[in-house]
Amino acid sequence: MNQKSFPISQEALEKIIAKYPTPFHIYDEKAIRQNLRRLFKAFSWAPEFREYFAVKATPNPRLLQIFKEEGAGADCSSLAELMLSEAADITGEKIMLTSNDTPADEFQKAIQLGAVINLDDITHIEYLEKNAGMPSIMSFRYNPGNLIEGNDIIGKPTEAKYGLTHDQILKAYKLAQEKGVKRFGLHCMVISNELRTEGFLLTASIMFNLAVEIKNKLGISIEFVNLGGGIGIPYRPEQDEVDLEAVGAGIHKLYQEIMEPAGLGSCAIAMESGRAITGPYGYLVSTAIHRKDTYKHYIGLDSCMANLMRPALYGAYHHITVIGKENEPADHVYDVTGSLCENNDKFAIDRQLPKIDIGDRIVIHDAGAHGHAMGFNYNGKLRSAELLLHEDGSVELIRRAETIDDYFATLTGFDGALIK
Ligand SMILES: *Cc1c(COP(=O)(O)O)cnc(C)c1O
Repeated sequence: MNQKSFPISQEALEKIIAKYPTPFHIYDEKAIRQNLRRLFKAFSWAPEFREYFAVKATPNPRLLQIFKEEGAGADCSSLAELMLSEAADITGEKIMLTSNDTPADEFQKAIQLGAVINLDDITHIEYLEKNAGMPSIMSFRYNPGNLIEGNDIIGKPTEAKYGLTHDQILKAYKLAQEKGVKRFGLHCMVISNELRTEGFLLTASIMFNLAVEIKNKLGISIEFVNLGGGIGIPYRPEQDEVDLEAVGAGIHKLYQEIMEPAGLGSCAIAMESGRAITGPYGYLVSTAIHRKDTYKHYIGLDSCMANLMRPALYGAYHHITVIGKENEPADHVYDVTGSLCENNDKFAIDRQLPKIDIGDRIVIHDAGAHGHAMGFNYNGKLRSAELLLHEDGSVELIRRAETIDDYFATLTGFDGALIK
């Protein structure tokens, strides 16, 4: 079980809305900082622990600055994400470039920033050398393939477009070594939104064993093992959060059993969590603007899947709180919808909620990662603002809402259309 609460009182929320109309995303700075500290603590046994925040989850440089203050770096997978990291003054080996199908300009920017380059394929070594030059430190993304058959934790790696096979990865280290690279790491990202401790232990044991094999066969002492992101969050109230302390302790045990005896006891542990860092501490705040009763009962919000796509895209559950009615009985059943001309634009289907009135403020939980980030402009919908809630209760605008001018900005030849 986990408690779904909203960190702002009804009165304070109304004051915020008076200044910043709904819909908007708001992130709880204090909770995010505490959460990051908890992650670092769970791995404090490691010679070094690194968290490269997966920028794609919440690509706002103001948040990246906060992560930086807490000791984290950035995991980037596009040119814009590299530039966002640079804007937040995260540079050098605090950046890891983990992209795939990578264009040349992205490699060039990463090399310019001194980032750790993580390659998704053996052919990328030559492409990188030709287009951007070789880095001083690099890693490869491992795809374990059929190593664990029919496993419900990592699914079917053979169907995933990412990473190098076992044989390729050994060849790749050798090739990079021949090209003069001296410092190496090892990377994987094989689990997603995982809540079970076993998932992380399984990944760690696969990776530690591979690090030992690389040492034995090639004489390369890996500097870091990056276990990827994929730490899940309990979207449903009845789910339990990941036991980070148990995950840290379990990985520590594997490290002692596998890495230390092989002489890899100074290898750093890295992760690139996105969801687990900000997900639970970001909220989409909307207002109920319509109520419609046909074959079902609908509540229409002033937001839509442009603001949060997960429910429509994956059928994902996101908890909903009706502000001021937290203690009222959930004796109504609603579909809570957005305004897109797509029938799957629903934040919730057949959800039991208290009676909702027009004007009620509706908070959608766990929207802090892969929320605003996935927004889009289909149907001419505009992306909402992002706000940061400081520890003292004050609120900072960290991204303004898009305007219709922004929408028209890329349309050539219609400059006058907005003046009328
Ligand atoms: C998306 C992604 C992550 C972050 O995943 P979360 O589920 O947000 O932890 C990390 N690494 C890579 C390579 C990714 O593509």
